[in-house]
Amino acid sequence: MSEVVEHLAELTGFRDRDVMDVTLVSALRDLLEPRSVAIYRIVGEAGQERWLTRARLEGDQAVASADAFWTEAEHLPALHTQPARLECMRERHVLQNRQGDQWLTLFPLATDREVVGVLELGTDAPLRNSAQRMVGSILRIYHNFQGLLDYSERDTLTGLLNRKTFDESFLKALSELNAPQRQACDLADDGRRLAVPTAGRQPRYWLGVIDIDHFKSVNDRHGHLIGDEVLLLLSRLMRNSFRFHDLLYRFGGEEFVVLMRCEDDDDAAQAFERLRHNCEQYGFPQVGRITVSIGFTEVRADDAPAGAFERADRAVYHAKAHGRNQVRSHAILVEQGQMRESRQVSAVELF
Ligand code: GH3
Ligand code: MG
Ligand code: MG
Repeated sequence: MSEVVEHLAELTGFRDRDVMDVTLVSALRDLLEPRSVAIYRIVGEAGQERWLTRARLEGDQAVASADAFWTEAEHLPALHTQPARLECMRERHVLQNRQGDQWLTLFPLATDREVVGVLELGTDAPLRNSAQRMVGSILRIYHNFQGLLDYSERDTLTGLLNRKTFDESFLKALSELNAPQRQACDLADDGRRLAVPTAGRQPRYWLGVIDIDHFKSVNDRHGHLIGDEVLLLLSRLMRNSFRFHDLLYRFGGEEFVVLMRCEDDDDAAQAFERLRHNCEQYGFPQVGRITVSIGFTEVRADDAPAGAFERADRAVYHAKAHGRNQVRSHAILVEQGQMRESRQVSAVELF
């Protein structure tokens, strides 16, 4: 019993979801000694969803493995390859199957709104009822804790990440920029080895700022409630326009931010252009057509969150001043001599 409590204390001691998932599979491996334990989640656009392995431990492995969170969806297994997982999610119920010489027991993983994946245990014999109940109880605690995290990290209107969590993710991205080609595992705060996905090449990140054009007039003409609905619909367009692993924020008001891993400036421009286009094409109920202005910049190894944000924001201002409904790259504006690299602090500003 005390072992279970100890694992629960550990599970709820982290605010990082990657670490929580690794901690959950480690706890279940220690408690039940199965052949394998894994968490799989569904990711990707509607109609093209895939299975992402969040954490997986084989019986004698010291370190959990996981799919890198920026893995392209097309490299992950398609949903239909795992019918038992789908059935477990649809039925929202524990499912036990014999597969070859082992038993697989599947537990649905749900948020308050939907079922998002499964926990899978591989064992030599069918999992006893008492063990199933214990796993169910641990999953309820895991679920409640994730709900609390959502509450503190997400914007209540749109469900996007809130500004509070931006600096932390930004610094995480910076640590990757500054860590040349790490090995396949890393150490947690308490010294345990954790799965940390690695990339074949040096990662690069981009930050984009999105501001709705003439939004004040939407509120003035249709009222705040309709204005809020526009914000909600725009957040959905954002989810559909970017990849599942891009980090999407509402920074407040009608200002949104995206932090994403890309190959190069063109790649980033294409992603932001997709959102600009999708927004322009969308018929917002009662309001009609709405456009956005977007500025973006590459994150530099020596950046501070505010510095990168300021560059992207200046590119937004440029877009606003040059007709709105456009995507502007800070790097290209500087290259074209339309913007200075960094703001010169003038004597007037100093005094
Ligand atoms: P611009 O094209 O220059 O961006 O024009 P704009 O009218 O969008 O100007 P700005 O971005 O400065 O305006 C922000 C407006 O957004 C002010 C306010 O009416 C509205 N707004 C800010 N937060 C909210 C919100 O939470 N809900 C609603 N409905 N409106 C908001
Ligand atoms: Mg604004
Ligand atoms: Mg605006």
